Amino acid sequence: MSGDLVTQLVNIVGERHVLCGAAIGDIEFPWETHSGCNAKAVVRPASTEEVAAVMRCCNAARQTVVPFGGMTNLVQGCATSPDDVVLSLERLNAIEGLDRLAGTLTAQSGVTLQAAQEAAADAGLFFPVDIGARANCQLGGLAASNAGGNKVIRYGMTRDTVLGLEAVLPDGTVISSMNRYIKNNSGFDLKHLFIGSEGVLGIITRIIFRLRTTPRSHNVALLACDKFDDVVAMLAIANRALPNILSAFEVMWNNFYELAVQPRGRLAAPLAPGAAQYVLIETMGVDQAQDEAAFEALLEDLMAQDLVVDGMLAKSDRERELIWEIRDEVEPVIGAAHNFDVSLRSADIGRYVESVDAAIHAQFPEANVIGFGHLGDNNVHVSVKDIAWDEAAIRAVEHAVYGCLEPYSGAVSAEHGIGLEKRDYLPITRSSAEIELMKSLKRMLDPNNILNPGKVIDAA
Ligand SMILES: Cc1cc2nc3c(=O)[nH]c(=O)nc-3n(C[C@H](O)[C@H](O)[C@H](O)COP(=O)(O)OP(=O)(O)OC[C@H]3O[C@@H](n4cnc5c(N)ncnc54)[C@H](O)[C@@H]3O)c2cc1C
Repeated sequence: MSGDLVTQLVNIVGERHVLCGAAIGDIEFPWETHSGCNAKAVVRPASTEEVAAVMRCCNAARQTVVPFGGMTNLVQGCATSPDDVVLSLERLNAIEGLDRLAGTLTAQSGVTLQAAQEAAADAGLFFPVDIGARANCQLGGLAASNAGGNKVIRYGMTRDTVLGLEAVLPDGTVISSMNRYIKNNSGFDLKHLFIGSEGVLGIITRIIFRLRTTPRSHNVALLACDKFDDVVAMLAIANRALPNILSAFEVMWNNFYELAVQPRGRLAAPLAPGAAQYVLIETMGVDQAQDEAAFEALLEDLMAQDLVVDGMLAKSDRERELIWEIRDEVEPVIGAAHNFDVSLRSADIGRYVESVDAAIHAQFPEANVIGFGHLGDNNVHVSVKDIAWDEAAIRAVEHAVYGCLEPYSGAVSAEHGIGLEKRDYLPITRSSAEIELMKSLKRMLDPNNILNPGKVIDAA
């Protein structure tokens, strides 16, 4: 990078906010999602105008730029080379406004998810997206990766909760599309270009979210089943019995559950290990008495139909938290592993996990293949551990996981995105015409291929 460009960046954001040299190596990735930051410089603008000025400079210098939000993505979306400039959104961290009457929250993109959830709660409203990385991930990263999470079955993905946003294009043009209405069919809805595009088309700087009514009823149960087909039957029954209030239907295979509840001094096992699968069912609504009655009637029905072999209905906030901790605290439970995130028909997920398990064990008899995920959203996570990992082993496991997906026409990413990690497998899910259109859009908006190059698609 030329000294001129550094000088220009310093002139835009101030000397304190351009890091070079050893300071870059000190940047820590939460959750160890990436292997380290190698970059020529890290620039930390504090406003949309500064982001735009940085991008104008970098575009003129043909300097590649990698946007950093909370750096919690799981697909190498923030991978850098020593030739890149990192643009960190951490200083765009203001909640600009909360309109109680309209139920909207306007914030800069560097605000953490947890801060947005707390601001909504303070105003008596509810921020409907929730993921385990809430303390670190940022609203811009959440939107850029169209994150899903724990309540998709009830409130949808991040895309469904963004009303409007502002983004800076690779050449520094600011696209302010700060719609605040539920309905706005005035031409193309441009926010969708940036939501889920993982920072390759533009840098999101501000967002307007739609908040929801705070749930006033909350029910959680943990159920054990003998076979996966019973879990699928339960999902269909729960969908019919709990319309509008079913907020989570999460599945854990026995090996996940055993790891989660093994003696760690904190998580006791609410149900004995050993069943084929465990299911967390949750409702969120507005009438505790009515919802609890419907929930208990559902549980009785499932038991009467012999779909459940054991169960626990949480009776206190602590018990509800305990059950969620078993499902939510994935990293300490699974530890070092390769993690996959795929979508397919919920009814096919059991057979799919069996086929992945068989394909991996044929090559790696010592491997541990662990299944869990958001079954209500057609989404299963598969974690593979206890393999002596090298490049060949990683590729072999990826081929097994994605190869088994093809007969089901599944999606190689349900919610984590593509990043660098899954780019080679995108053709399993997207047609060549779709990928060509993605590349055309990238080339139109970023003809110099400077913004997060190589992520999602190779448009070089
Ligand atoms: C413990 C844990 C639990 C998780 N659970 C879920 C889950 O349940 N569901 C789910 O969907 N995901 C989950 N994730 C992954 C999820 O995608 C991310 O946690 C989150 O959405 C990323 O936000 P971030 O701010 O960390 O973005 P980053 O990781 O910083 O960035 C994500 C991508 O977007 C780009 N980017 C970042 N900020 C911007 C911006 N302002 N404008 C444009 N591009 C930008 C980056 O270059 C990168 O390509 C989980 C991750 C962890 C570690």
